Amino acid sequence: SSTDIEIAVNGLQAWYGESHVLHDIGFDVKKGEVVTLLGRNGAGKTTTLRALMGLVNRRDGSAVICGEQTIKYPSRRIARLGIGYVPEERGIFSELSVEENLMLPPKLRDGGFSREEIFDLFPNLKSRLHSQGTKLSGGEQQMLAMARVLRTGADCLFLDEPTEGLAPVIVQQIERVLQMLKARGFTIILVEQNLRFAASLADRHYVVEQGRIVAQASGADGIDSLTRYLGV
Ligand code: ATP
Repeated sequence: SSTDIEIAVNGLQAWYGESHVLHDIGFDVKKGEVVTLLGRNGAGKTTTLRALMGLVNRRDGSAVICGEQTIKYPSRRIARLGIGYVPEERGIFSELSVEENLMLPPKLRDGGFSREEIFDLFPNLKSRLHSQGTKLSGGEQQMLAMARVLRTGADCLFLDEPTEGLAPVIVQQIERVLQMLKARGFTIILVEQNLRFAASLADRHYVVEQGRIVAQASGADGIDSLTRYLGV
């Protein structure tokens, strides 16, 4: 039923200056679902997440999140609905230690992960507690970025290519973490180039092409029907 829909996007458009980048993005995500946005480089996946977070200057259309029309909301108000955004560039404070990075995120709502819960989920971070952000591996930076968002109390994650550039063993660790969060009922929108990773986690997939949703499919098998859009 419509009450299970956590995020409903319709006719979403976005611009960078004069450049009209998103033309017609429409998709929905149910509570507890993992949904991927797939598509070639430059298709508009990152911009879709940024537009939903209120991080592009000009956007239009409809984005209902937890029953609220958010298209005119500033990004902090969107975050307070329980949305945690982990951008491709990860957004940690690289001059600060792991410990300081974990202390700084604002608690936006109840249910934020305690330090102990963070270290259960990401044991690597505990052993790197006093390391500076710049000294971390790419995988550790990704884990720290996710940990910061979990501290805020977010229960819906927007993850932009969390496995990009990471070694297979680290990709597996992140996959396990996301499986655990999924089992805890988190709702996740995942922008992903790694189709095997997307297939193992996601309930449904949408393909973005030139700022539009052009195809969708369900489950690990469904992803095969989308490869012709992805140039693989
Ligand atoms: P990628 O995997 O390369 O990040 P993507 O699907 O996430 O691809 P976007 O980053 O959303 O694509 O980019 C969509 C379009 O918007 C591209 O044509 C890109 O060149 C353009 N674009 C992205 N950021 C900006 C910006 N800050 N200013 C102007 N144009 C931009």
